[in-house]
Amino acid sequence: MSDALSYADCRLCPRACGVDRHTAAGLCGETETARVAWSGLHFGEEPPISAAEGSGTVFFCGCNLGCIFCQNRGISRPHSQGRVFSETELAALFLRLQAAGAENVNLVTGTPHAPLIIAALKRAKAGGLTIPVVWNSSGYETLETIAALNAVVDIYLADFKTADRKSAQQLFNAADYPKTAAAAIRAMCLAKPPLFADFYNDRLKLFHPLMKQGVIVRHLALPGAAADSQTVIDRYERDFRPLGAVFSLLTDYLPFSELPPPLNRRLSPSEETILKENLIQKGWDDCFFQESEECAVDWTPDFTRREPFPAGFSKAVF
Ligand code: SF4
Repeated sequence: MSDALSYADCRLCPRACGVDRHTAAGLCGETETARVAWSGLHFGEEPPISAAEGSGTVFFCGCNLGCIFCQNRGISRPHSQGRVFSETELAALFLRLQAAGAENVNLVTGTPHAPLIIAALKRAKAGGLTIPVVWNSSGYETLETIAALNAVVDIYLADFKTADRKSAQQLFNAADYPKTAAAAIRAMCLAKPPLFADFYNDRLKLFHPLMKQGVIVRHLALPGAAADSQTVIDRYERDFRPLGAVFSLLTDYLPFSELPPPLNRRLSPSEETILKENLIQKGWDDCFFQESEECAVDWTPDFTRREPFPAGFSKAVF
């Protein structure tokens, strides 16, 4: 286990529950036992971390943020189903993903299990893990957890979900999110300046820059919140882009029926167009957004299936 982080009096994330996770679950719904909902090669991640061979993705159960619109709600809510992994088993899984050709190990929502994951990564690295490690996070992190992760993580894929305190309170009961996530992403940028290596993609017959180290700031645009999304883009430009972070705009938000308006609808064509046009006008070569045909695909993963993503976009490795 990581020396700096502890499950006792848990303060692994900004919720700072203070519960003893050896005997109880915190607000994230998780005890000290780490459960994995799915692992395998994922071909639909951001281009800098997902080329021909796929990103070696591990989805952990539970979540310390708990967005009301969660696209992974099948595994993020308390009591969701997953297979328990020990430190040794996790390390072996990381090595199996590497052996399967993964371009990186991509750890999704690992924050509640950071001590175990750090220990497993150290064990895997001692056993031959050489591919980059991606920490795929809501952005709701403490500086202490980031400091401990820096020893084993190469790439941070961090959400910056909203820059608005009121929205953060309504969406995930965390009014401090904009300030806390911004501080965490800044710490990530300072720790991991960008480093790319050209990878030759045989299928596409072209070189593809793969990230070996760095930060990707990701933002899922929500319906009725174009002004907030624009503020997020402005904050990226002001605070994170000068530090080398790249930007990813997701416009494929999928609602579910229980949500209140405007979260019960998709982005309107005009909301999507305005945000994309703004990015295009910036002329940045270090930002990504989805084409309209990609947004038409239902990306909501179904973790009850062996392959939870649309056909051809995942290959399970357990
Ligand atoms: S990781 Fe879970 S238990 Fe720990 S502080 Fe965050 S929400 Fe609470």
